Amino acid sequence: MFELKEDDDACKKAQRTGAFYLFHSLAPLVQKSEHQYVVPRYSLVELERLLETFGQDTQKIEDSVLIGCSGQQEAWFALDLGLKSSSSTSASLQKPEMETELKGSFTELRKALFHLSMKDATLLSTAQALLHWHDAHQFCSRSGQPTKKNMAGSKRVCPSNKIIYYPQMAPVVITLVSDGPRCLLVRQSSFPKGMYSALAGFCDIGESLEEAVRREVAEEVGLEMDRLQYSASQHWPFPNSSLMIACHATVKPGQTEIQMNLRELEAAAWFSHDEVATALRRKGPYTQQQDGTFPFWLPPKLAIAHLLIKEWLEKQSCSSLPASPRSSHLHLS
Ligand SMILES: [Zn+2]
Repeated sequence: MFELKEDDDACKKAQRTGAFYLFHSLAPLVQKSEHQYVVPRYSLVELERLLETFGQDTQKIEDSVLIGCSGQQEAWFALDLGLKSSSSTSASLQKPEMETELKGSFTELRKALFHLSMKDATLLSTAQALLHWHDAHQFCSRSGQPTKKNMAGSKRVCPSNKIIYYPQMAPVVITLVSDGPRCLLVRQSSFPKGMYSALAGFCDIGESLEEAVRREVAEEVGLEMDRLQYSASQHWPFPNSSLMIACHATVKPGQTEIQMNLRELEAAAWFSHDEVATALRRKGPYTQQQDGTFPFWLPPKLAIAHLLIKEWLEKQSCSSLPASPRSSHLHLS
């Protein structure tokens, strides 16, 4: 993978035996089967034939980005058929006609994600994030000149002043706050109705992970933290590429009164083990109930908040067991 990122010729060669995933305007191509979505992949030869059918120049393959490699060294690429590029032609077919030809539909990633296997969801999230980054970095921010991507798409270079741009992720802390027997869950107005999740916020520049968590918890719910324990991390493609860093936090003894930041949150409340366990079994999104409310539900498996909540529940059920050895402990002073 490293060699393919650095060596344009090797990358081009890898395309000949590789597989391509297709997108249109950042929406991945999926084929809907009875139980879940299937993600089709194409060989270089198949892709060239498709581009000809669509009235697009096969030169467009140069716009594809390297998104991964199999154990057998088969390289995987993603190509967006809808984004404007130097090789776009006006004769190209429109999206619905391409979908008919491909026997699938370009589905918004946010919607497709929860119908995909974990492996496909991870791969398509990476691909979408990288395609999005390239689309947003067409020009050098210093000279205003068009930038040029390398074959793999691991960087863009400005030909006039040689500045190199690398794809970036923004660190986000996601924290499940607990006072011992209860955990704190919140709602932002943008969440699907009825869904609660853990607290999340971007790290400010210059902050450590611990400082970011302590500030977020203080700013959003007015609580002071005692202990912090790292759990896991995950790339998340929305709204731009984020690195979600998931932690468990325990508030200082007696710190239970929530002062909710109304600019950030729509609701914040403490929930018991039983309430959370019931909610975790529900699978949203839900429509409005007869009394006008929505059932209380939690993020699905794919979201790292789900893991945090599940870990917290397990700790409640067997609090006498030692903490998982893969987690490291960070104690705040
Ligand atoms: Zn420049």
